[in-house]
Amino acid sequence: MRHRIAVVGAGPAGLAFARVLHRHGHPVTVFERDAGPDARPPGGALDLHEGLGQLALAKAGLLAEFRALSRPEGQAMRIMDTDGTVLRDWRPGPDERANPEIDRGQLRDLLLGPLDVEWGRGVTEVVPGDGTLVRFADGRQETFDLVVGADGAWSKVRPALSPATPRYTGVTMVETSTDDPDLARLVGDGALAVYGVNRNLVAQRNSGTHVKVYAQFRAPLDHAVDLLTMFDGWSGPVVDLLRRGTEFVRRPLYVLPVPHTWAHVPGVTLLGDAAHLMPPLGVGANLAMLEGAELAESLAACPADLDEAVRAFEERMWPRAARWAEFTAAGLDRLVSPDPAQAVALFDDVQP
Ligand SMILES: Cc1cc2nc3c(=O)[nH]c(=O)nc-3n(C[C@H](O)[C@H](O)[C@H](O)COP(=O)(O)OP(=O)(O)OC[C@H]3O[C@@H](n4cnc5c(N)ncnc54)[C@H](O)[C@@H]3O)c2cc1C
Repeated sequence: MRHRIAVVGAGPAGLAFARVLHRHGHPVTVFERDAGPDARPPGGALDLHEGLGQLALAKAGLLAEFRALSRPEGQAMRIMDTDGTVLRDWRPGPDERANPEIDRGQLRDLLLGPLDVEWGRGVTEVVPGDGTLVRFADGRQETFDLVVGADGAWSKVRPALSPATPRYTGVTMVETSTDDPDLARLVGDGALAVYGVNRNLVAQRNSGTHVKVYAQFRAPLDHAVDLLTMFDGWSGPVVDLLRRGTEFVRRPLYVLPVPHTWAHVPGVTLLGDAAHLMPPLGVGANLAMLEGAELAESLAACPADLDEAVRAFEERMWPRAARWAEFTAAGLDRLVSPDPAQAVALFDDVQP
């Protein structure tokens, strides 16, 4: 196969795709808008599930390296009520490897390996036709046999396939972080969650004593909020997770319609959040990676007919993504709900 293949986006989807294709000996061009791998903070740790993200890493030949880097103890989960009483304190057994955590930066470097990414190449538009034309923010343009859109929630590739745009879920997340060792102890090795009425606080241990803190609440889009007022009355150490936070980033949660499918267009497809943006309940990056690996395998297995390989992949991706999108949407409703007991019960439902 010597098709000209490009992937737009060097996130989990794009890198898993490129790395597995590379493993099969096929060249692929990766275009990324960021100026370099460290152009912005990589974000919180990810837990990679056995049948999803870990499967993708196995397809890339990277599972052993992942096991060496990841933190199985990060699977621990502690739930407190708003008074600070511990309701659940689950710790993984010594051989539990279902969902170990890895820092996003480590995962990115692992996937990058020998790949050559074209950094600072923001795509503005993709035009299918006799060869798919890619237009860049710097005014240049190039043509490929296949362009894979792995450029996330606000994909510039998606309009070539579908008119769908993300809609606001009604839930906003504010993200911050702290390196306070006392707060790292409060959180434990994994995650700490505290659920209130229509709001919650989730803190996640990353490497060392770094803790990512996420406050989620129902609010109109861009409605001004004072977090300390919103979490007023919650136990002191829990509120300290916010008080000692540095740099607050507001992330309204958006989703694509479910199911999100499109009439197949030769020469273009989508992966990951670009195809099925869903609430962040620990699945998006996992699914994005598995899809990237599967599309690469499908292309490698069907070198004579690129289009057939893409069609087969899309037929497989759509129903699975729809199932996860429904699951995570229902999960978000329970985690940010008028009845905090619903959230604790969700944890009991999914715990092994
Ligand atoms: C707070 C939070 C916590 C989360 N926690 C988890 C978790 O624990 N587990 C999990 O599985 N998922 C989690 N997710 C979801 C996960 O982050 C996403 O589903 C995942 O990153 C999607 O991967 P992707 O490669 O499809 O897109 P992205 O990660 O968004 O990557 C897209 C890439 O494309 C680049 N790009 C964008 N536009 C262009 C353009 N026009 N031209 C060129 N490049 C472009 C971007 O710079 C980026 O590098 C979380 C999400 C959030 C917000």
